[in-house]
Amino acid sequence: MTKSPKDWKPQTRMVRGGMARSPYGEISEALFLTQSFAYDSAAAADRRFSGEDPGFIYQRFGNPTTQMFEDRLALLEGAEVCRATASGMSAVHVALQGLVRAGDHVVAGRALFGSCRWILSQWMPRFGVEVTFVDATDPAAWAAAVRPNTRAFLVESPANPLLEVTPIAEVAEIAHQAGARLVVDNVFATPVFQKPLELGADIVVYSATKHIDGQGRVLGGAILGGAELMTESYRDILRHTGPALSPFNAWVLLKGLETLDLRVRRQADNAVRVTEALASHAAVRRVVFPGRPDHPQANLIARQMSGPGNVVAFDLGDRARAWAFLDALGIVDISNNLGDAKSMATHPSTTTHRSMSESERLEIGLTEGWVRMSVGLEDAGDLADDVLQALDKV
Ligand SMILES: *Cc1c(COP(=O)(O)O)cnc(C)c1O
Repeated sequence: MTKSPKDWKPQTRMVRGGMARSPYGEISEALFLTQSFAYDSAAAADRRFSGEDPGFIYQRFGNPTTQMFEDRLALLEGAEVCRATASGMSAVHVALQGLVRAGDHVVAGRALFGSCRWILSQWMPRFGVEVTFVDATDPAAWAAAVRPNTRAFLVESPANPLLEVTPIAEVAEIAHQAGARLVVDNVFATPVFQKPLELGADIVVYSATKHIDGQGRVLGGAILGGAELMTESYRDILRHTGPALSPFNAWVLLKGLETLDLRVRRQADNAVRVTEALASHAAVRRVVFPGRPDHPQANLIARQMSGPGNVVAFDLGDRARAWAFLDALGIVDISNNLGDAKSMATHPSTTTHRSMSESERLEIGLTEGWVRMSVGLEDAGDLADDVLQALDKV
């Protein structure tokens, strides 16, 4: 008997999931660059708009190429529904806004991607939504932050930039006891190494800009979850506020998914090699990587993640040393992106996390000596040599 896509292993899902062939029988998924769709008759248009006929209406609502990307990622994540968005930030923004209204309260980890932190600390309060930031590694801190009006928890795990890990199953239980939904930003772990829905999360969000593209080309994002919640909380906000993903970008991301597993596993292997080089050098005070036994939460990582990801953080002591290291790199680029085929390193306190105040940065342990590196697909030996020669110049 032929297996149904739900019985496919992840790598098969990544290559074949969501494929909807046109009558031409193309092997590579078709790119439908069309904003709107024609109906056979006025009555057919009526049926389409009433929802009786499930076809496409307008690119802001859905598009065949975008839907192939959504269906493939949903199958990979084990979610009933995926909705693609124009960027990771539009995914995070909609994922939160769809769950709250004025007077509600949100709890979030205090170490977050910079723009996520801005939405919570600067934007949502303008609409009467209160936010509490907690130490995301500590379940007791989540429980203590709960109020009668708490509607959502936002977790980023591993978190940017110092790779702290949240016990997702425990925090999901606390959220559900409080009547709140748990949203997990799973970018650093990737769909290959962590399955938040299986751990109890209600919603998973991605910046597809990162590993899913993985070759530095396009922006994209996704929101995934159960059918009822996705429809209730997100269908209308996505249709009417317009964060739709371009079908061109959806096509690039769809092809990116085909090689995601291969790329992410190789990047993780390379990251292990790079962290060994870093840890061997006297200029490095501390290395943080989810794949190392000396990560403070190594036991939790072993339970919750099936691989370490490709992002590494390390402390060189002060800004002058961190900058000297970056400036001495020959292969690795100085750049704030991550998940790319090309390795890149950044100085978080003056780039990705500069909009935080110094005291906020110190609260998450981000001093000026830290460098964050996204390990790419180059030869691991070349990367280790590049890092070591740069450390020699620190
Ligand atoms: C990059 C990133 C985002 C934002 O994604 P964009 O595609 O740049 O909008 C959100 N969360 C995390 C963890 C990220 O790394």
